[in-house]
Amino acid sequence: MRDPILALDGLDKSFGALHATRQVSLDLRPGEIHALIGPNGAGKSTLIAQIAGTLKPDRGEIYLERQALSSLSVAERARLGLGRSFQVSSLAEPLSVLRNVMVGVQAVQGSSYRFWKPIRSDADLVEPALRAIEQMGLGHRADTAVSDLSHGERRQVEVACALALKPKALLLDEPMAGLGPEGSAKLTELLEGLKTRVPILLIEHDMDAVFRLADRISVLVDGEVVAHGDSEAIRNNPHVREAYLGE
Ligand code: ADP
Ligand code: MG
Repeated sequence: MRDPILALDGLDKSFGALHATRQVSLDLRPGEIHALIGPNGAGKSTLIAQIAGTLKPDRGEIYLERQALSSLSVAERARLGLGRSFQVSSLAEPLSVLRNVMVGVQAVQGSSYRFWKPIRSDADLVEPALRAIEQMGLGHRADTAVSDLSHGERRQVEVACALALKPKALLLDEPMAGLGPEGSAKLTELLEGLKTRVPILLIEHDMDAVFRLADRISVLVDGEVVAHGDSEAIRNNPHVREAYLGE
């Protein structure tokens, strides 16, 4: 088996008496979508925050291609190839799709180089931004203001912002949330096409999307991975059906 791109080793995080993640270990391999499911409050977003670097684990380590990340900042992790989208949209409404993605790239890449060379020129930013926009199915919308986009298209732009940084791994926290059936179907199709370029750790409540997309699924309950397997195994796991799918 090929080495994992991303590996979590025993991530533990408490907020006072609340144990939000308990010894969570899992990995993300090249070419796969690994879905993380579990009820509200299970610790999914807390886990993503520890990977991205906005939250410091009490114990455990995160490896991106074998490099330990725990001493690195959010920006350093992003520059090393950890891509993520946010649950709350951070797009600039009046700006075009292309501008938004370019600003996103510059925000991450520009800052590290500022002290010894000029911030990347616009021309440098256009090419990766356009490619990411096309990958997310919005090539025809590049010059459209974000304010004129549908909810689903905005979500596609958010993923494009992460993609334009050419990440080695992509973390998506509930990308389908709030989308209608059409928007979810479109995003599902796009993510399916994306996984050969970049492996995705996908948190998602839309179980149709999860079962269609995920190569593997980990189930988190009360901060702990209680089940793990391929889509088929998780779909048929009686504990999962009872505890999570409500059957
Ligand atoms: P999920 O994303 O699976 O719905 P979260 O990771 O957001 O769950 O939350 C896991 C638990 O940790 C919840 O009980 C939540 O209230 C708690 N929690 C999350 N962030 C904080 C925080 N900054 N301070 C205190 N408690 C938190
Ligand atoms: Mg969450």
